[in-house]
Amino acid sequence: MRKFNYLVPKTLDEAVSLHESYGEKAKYIAGGTDVLVKIKEGKLKPDYLISLKHISDQDGPVMNHETGELAIGAYATHRSIEKSSTVRLNYPILHDAVSNIGSVQIRNVATIGGNLVNAVPSADGAIPLITLDAKAHIFGTKGQRTMELRRFFLGPGQCDLDRGEILTRLVIPAPAPRSGGAYVKHGRRSAMELPMLGAGVLLSLEEDMATCAKARICLGVAAPTPLRCIQAEKYLVGKVIDENSLAEAGKVAAEESKVRDSIRGVAWYRREMVGVLVKRMGLKAFERAK
Ligand SMILES: Cc1cc2nc3c(=O)[nH]c(=O)nc-3n(C[C@H](O)[C@H](O)[C@H](O)COP(=O)(O)OP(=O)(O)OC[C@H]3O[C@@H](n4cnc5c(N)ncnc54)[C@H](O)[C@@H]3O)c2cc1C
Repeated sequence: MRKFNYLVPKTLDEAVSLHESYGEKAKYIAGGTDVLVKIKEGKLKPDYLISLKHISDQDGPVMNHETGELAIGAYATHRSIEKSSTVRLNYPILHDAVSNIGSVQIRNVATIGGNLVNAVPSADGAIPLITLDAKAHIFGTKGQRTMELRRFFLGPGQCDLDRGEILTRLVIPAPAPRSGGAYVKHGRRSAMELPMLGAGVLLSLEEDMATCAKARICLGVAAPTPLRCIQAEKYLVGKVIDENSLAEAGKVAAEESKVRDSIRGVAWYRREMVGVLVKRMGLKAFERAK
């Protein structure tokens, strides 16, 4: 494997200024499960790897009990999110996703920030966080900025970070009352494989516990970036949630999807599966909201 210098900044300022000094020759590394594979394959040739793992401000999921927001440090491993009882009990859609990424060994080192910045259409972490209306907190030479995570993805392998900027934190607003969500990745195997399709559905119910007050439907590998199915969401709001309304929402989502043929599945099958998975995850989300 190609030789590189491994730099270990302790603060965000230090990390950003190291990146500024070395420019194109430098690459940030968190868990390294993507970066090191690319270096080994010769797709990346950095002279300097700047580790983000020793920056002090790196919490796993932390609930702010005053605002109800959940903050997750970008350098939190998938495993730390999976093991958080707050996530398991209150954000099961996120738990569904992180607990199925790679293997335990991968989840012990791979981070949620690396998953998002890598920006592959199959990234499992993106879908639940988008349905939860998460905001991305970003730090760079010009200071801090915040953006909706759904706007963070620009194309396969491309996200809205300027050179040297670091994704520091994801913040999820307090969930609406009577909410539930579910995520599934669909593929030939459930583990150690990138999905053919990912589907996340989040529903909030009216006080009657039957009518949809708010819906979020997001798909992975159904477009070049994670895809919010806005028309399907609009269709559900005000409807009584049942098999029929969810099947119809699934059809609308399938029409909105931009699936293509690929080595992991043909387009017509994936489109069919969008309908099936949206309905299936909708029913699970409904049960969890009750
Ligand atoms: C065997 C195997 C199985 C896998 N299975 C899955 C799977 O099931 N689902 C899935 O979604 N992914 C999977 N992956 C992909 C990968 O593990 C994840 O995307 C992981 O979350 C990447 O995180 P990392 O910390 O290892 O990223 P790194 O490799 O450290 O970094 C990835 C990219 O993000 C940049 N970066 C990292 N953190 C930041 C930050 N905070 N700010 C700015 N830039 C940053 C790096 O410079 C690099 O470009 C798998 C990988 C392997 C090797």
